[in-house]
Amino acid sequence: MALMTAQQYIESLRKMHTRVYMFGKKIDNWVDSPMIRPSINCVAMTYALAQDPQYKDIMTATSSLTGHTINRFTHLHQSTEDLIKKVKMQRLLGQKTASCFQRCVGMDSFNAEFSTTYEIDQKYGTHYHENFKKFLTMVQDNDLTVDGAMTDPKGDRSKSPSQQSDPDMYVHVVERRPDGIVVCGAKCHQTGSVNSHWHIFMPTISMKEADKDWAVSFACPSDADGLYMIYGRQSCDTRKLEGCPIDVGNAKFGGQEALVVLDHVFIPNEYIFMNGEYDFAGMLVERFAGYHRQSYGGCKVGVGDVVIGAAALAAEYNGVEKASAVKDKLIEMTHLNETLYCCGIACSCEGCRTKAGNYQIDLLLANVCKQNVTRFPYEIVRLAEDIAGGLMVTMPSQKDFESDLEVGKNGETIGDICHKFFAARDGVSTEDRQRVMRFLENMCLGAAAVGYRTESMHGAGSPQAQRIMIARQGNIEGKKKLAKDVAGIKS
Ligand code: SF4
Ligand code: FE
Repeated sequence: MALMTAQQYIESLRKMHTRVYMFGKKIDNWVDSPMIRPSINCVAMTYALAQDPQYKDIMTATSSLTGHTINRFTHLHQSTEDLIKKVKMQRLLGQKTASCFQRCVGMDSFNAEFSTTYEIDQKYGTHYHENFKKFLTMVQDNDLTVDGAMTDPKGDRSKSPSQQSDPDMYVHVVERRPDGIVVCGAKCHQTGSVNSHWHIFMPTISMKEADKDWAVSFACPSDADGLYMIYGRQSCDTRKLEGCPIDVGNAKFGGQEALVVLDHVFIPNEYIFMNGEYDFAGMLVERFAGYHRQSYGGCKVGVGDVVIGAAALAAEYNGVEKASAVKDKLIEMTHLNETLYCCGIACSCEGCRTKAGNYQIDLLLANVCKQNVTRFPYEIVRLAEDIAGGLMVTMPSQKDFESDLEVGKNGETIGDICHKFFAARDGVSTEDRQRVMRFLENMCLGAAAVGYRTESMHGAGSPQAQRIMIARQGNIEGKKKLAKDVAGIKS
């Protein structure tokens, strides 16, 4: 099958029987839910841009499995150039949506699974790599969206999976049958889960022998029997239900996270990629996290571009764009944003071939990339708020600007009064001003702040997870040797 169009993707979701719950109720037509649809539009953009000839090189690739033209979101990276194109694609999508477009978690899990299953098979003579290749060929040929599901609820963090009082705190095997396994558990804050056709489940931490039943990885359709999702809410999300798109800030696009529950789900053998090989759990986690930490050097940079643009517009509308203090803040925002991009590109350039043949990023640089992402977007939104002024959080609603209720002594309406007092520079409409202020509000502390701020902190692993990897990869012993050599220390 050829690449799907955005419309075909949306229609394909309607054919699924995905079970979605929100606000304590089952949502049957979730595709058209105003709460969910912006996140679907966002994934649809990954399909739409792949159809656009001007983005062909960045959005599509030639499959290493079939030779077919595929969406880059389903590609196994074949070179450092592919790794760089991945980051560029993510920056582009961030620029077009100003949101989390969700499809990267699948792409990152494909590349981590491809190399890890190969190495498991080498050690144990298993057939996971063939299983995975078959699965990925199906994904590529049907241009599917897949959620890469890693983060377990974890319960008591001081205990391993097998020590938890509730074994479901980590996804685990509850029954082994000749034709497959039965699994239970859940994955938390799963990006794009509702909008995905399939899920790939992976362990979330390194494991020991006692955790064997938790060392499990597999693929499963999003509407499999026993699988359901409880939708995560976001700051100011019910603004989407008010019928005032300006107040939403970014009414068209948005991110999505959900709790994904596995209640005795049967997984046939052909979709299993790890089943008890606990000594490979850490490798899979490290590789997936590494790829996703690289990803943030693209997606968050693209979103940052839009935030910087909005701050510059806000300054212009106020007539202060020539003020040196404003210019300097925009320079600082750009410097921070491009530093993140440098990290995304650098860890791609320094990538290397895995034993299985696909390419992996430089793990140290990818972790440095994500560590910076846990900080710089916060400074970028601080500066954006500084430039925008308090109006971004105090402006009356779209309904006030549109109101014809008379309140003035000369018959002025609420709308007239709002337009009068929220006018700024001549030639700038108050509606444009509302739009840019509400957009910045949304990015800095509304629903989009989930994707730009808190996801920058905790997505792809919280800051401490990167610091552990930086400690492991930083080669302090090698650096001590350098110092000794230069300083003439013999001991
Ligand atoms: Fe993609 Fe970024 Fe969202 Fe992760 S946070 S899925 S990398 S857009
Ligand atoms: Fe993320």
